[in-house]
Amino acid sequence: MRRKPILSGLVLGLFVVSLAPADERADLSAIWKIKDEGLNRTQVMEILSYLTDVHGPRLTGSSQMRKAQEWAQTKFKEWGLENVHTERYEFGRGWNLKRFSAHMVEPTYSPLIAYPKAWTPGTRGLVRAEVMRVDIDSESDFDTYRGKLKGLFILTQPPREVEAQFNPQGRRYSDEDLRNVTMMPDPGQPARQPRGPGRPGQPSNRQLQRKINAFYVSEGVAALVEPGRGDGGTIFVSSGGDRKKDAAPVPPQVVMAVEHYNRICRILDKKIKVQLEMEIQTEFLDQDPYDYNVLAEISGTDKKEELVMVGAHFDSWHSGTGATDNAAGSAIAMEVMRILKDTGLRPRRTIRIGLWSGEEQGLLGSRAYVNEHFALRPTPPEDMDRDSEEYRKLTQTPPTLKPDHAKFAGYWNVDNGTGKIRGIYLQGNEEVRPIFEAWLAPFKDMGATALSVRNTGGTDHLSFDAVGLPGFQFIQDSVEYDTRTHHSNMDVYDRIQKGDMMQMAVIEAAMVYHTAMRDEKLPRKPLPKPQPQSTGTQ
Ligand SMILES: [Zn+2]
Repeated sequence: MRRKPILSGLVLGLFVVSLAPADERADLSAIWKIKDEGLNRTQVMEILSYLTDVHGPRLTGSSQMRKAQEWAQTKFKEWGLENVHTERYEFGRGWNLKRFSAHMVEPTYSPLIAYPKAWTPGTRGLVRAEVMRVDIDSESDFDTYRGKLKGLFILTQPPREVEAQFNPQGRRYSDEDLRNVTMMPDPGQPARQPRGPGRPGQPSNRQLQRKINAFYVSEGVAALVEPGRGDGGTIFVSSGGDRKKDAAPVPPQVVMAVEHYNRICRILDKKIKVQLEMEIQTEFLDQDPYDYNVLAEISGTDKKEELVMVGAHFDSWHSGTGATDNAAGSAIAMEVMRILKDTGLRPRRTIRIGLWSGEEQGLLGSRAYVNEHFALRPTPPEDMDRDSEEYRKLTQTPPTLKPDHAKFAGYWNVDNGTGKIRGIYLQGNEEVRPIFEAWLAPFKDMGATALSVRNTGGTDHLSFDAVGLPGFQFIQDSVEYDTRTHHSNMDVYDRIQKGDMMQMAVIEAAMVYHTAMRDEKLPRKPLPKPQPQSTGTQ
C-alpha cells in the first residue's frame, strides 16, 4: 500500500512521540549527586586493589576467594548496607596453588615463565628430569610411547610460531566501530553455533582427552607442559582437572610461555638433552563442597518489595590477580552500592548486589541464585552428552516461575574488563530502547551513547535473561581484554584504567538508580520459546 509522503510523515511523527513517553526522563539532580560522589570521592581503585593485590587471584573454591568474600562483606557492613550474607550452592572441591617453580637446568640454566593449570595435582617435591616431545592425537598413538615416558616432563604440543606485534594490543571503539555495533546483524546469516566440545553434530573430544590423561597417569610422567596462548611472557591458563571429588586422576600440567617452550623444542630438535627442574605444590579442598555468592542490599521505600540487582562475577582464573576478569566489574558493582548509599538517594525499589562465584566454570553462581529465587530451570549434568535427546529435553523445559519473579525490575552487569562504557546491549528487548535512551542521554559527554539491539553473551546477565528477566550488559571498549588480559597471567591491577573505572561506576549507578525509581518495572521480553531441534548439519 502506498501513502502520500506527508501522511506517512505524520504517522511516523506520532509513532516517534509514542516511543518516547514524557516520563522517560533522566533525573538530573540524582545524576549530579552520583557524578559528584563517583568522580570526586571515588573509591573504586582502592576496592580493586584489595580484590586483586591483597585477595587475588580469586579462583572459585580457593582459600583466597573465601578471604575476598569475607572482605567484601566487611566492607558492605562498614558502608551501612543491609542483609549482608552469603548463599551457597554445590560447586565441588576447591583448589589452592601453594608453591611453584620451574627452571631449565640442562644444557644450560634458565628460569622459566610458567603456571600450573587449576585443579591439577602437584609433583612429589622438587623433580629434576629429562624432557620429551610427544605427539598423541588418538588412542592408536599410545603404543608408540608405552613404557618410555616414566618420570619425564612431556611437551605435548609442537612449537608455535611467534609473530611480531604490528597492531596495538589496546583498542577503543571508533565512531564507525560503535555505529556497526548498533546495527542489527544480517538476518540472512546463519546463527552462530556454540563453540567447543559437544557442538551438535560433532564428536566430543572430551572422552579422548580423558583417555590421554589416563595414559599419561598410568605411564607415570613427571608433568605435562604445553605452550600458552599469547606471547611476550603473557600466558593464558585455565583448568586441567576436575572439581568432582571422585574424578579420575590427571597428571600435573603446566602452561609455559611460548618463547621458553619453543626454545626447549629447538634444543631437543638438535638431539641435545634438556633437563627441567620443577616443584608444584597444590592442595585440593575436599571439606566444603559448596561455593558462595555474596549479597547485600539498600532497602527501598514505597516499592521495597520489588527488586533491582547489580552484579558481577567475583571469581577469576588463577595465574594473574583477576583484575579485568572480573575484579573490575565487581569493584564497580561495589562502588555503585557505596555511591548510592553515600549520596543519600532513597531508591523506591530495593537494590541488591550479587557478587557471583563459579562464573568461569559456567555461570554456576548466578544460575544457582536465579534458580533459588526467581525461576527454576533444570540443569543438565556437565558431562551429559549434548547431542542426546535427554539433554535436549532438559534444556528445552520451560522454567518454573517463583513468586519473586513477578517482583523483579532489572539486573545490571559489568564483565568486559577495564574499558569504559560506550552504550548498552538491549538483549533483543526493543521496548527498553526509549527508556535507556533517556537515561543514557546525560552521559553523552562521557562517551556512552550506543544502544544495540544485539545480545551479548558469556556472563551472568544470561542467567536472568534465560528465565525472561530483564538483564543487561554494557558495550565497553575492549582495551587489551582479548589480546592480553582475559584469563592471562597479566590480568593484573596495572592493566586497569582508572578513568574508565570511574566512568563505569557512575553510569552503572545511574542505570541501577533509575531502574529502582521508574513507576513501572522494566518491560520484559516474552519467556524464551523452545528452540527447534538442531539438525546437526552445520
Ligand atoms: Zn568474566
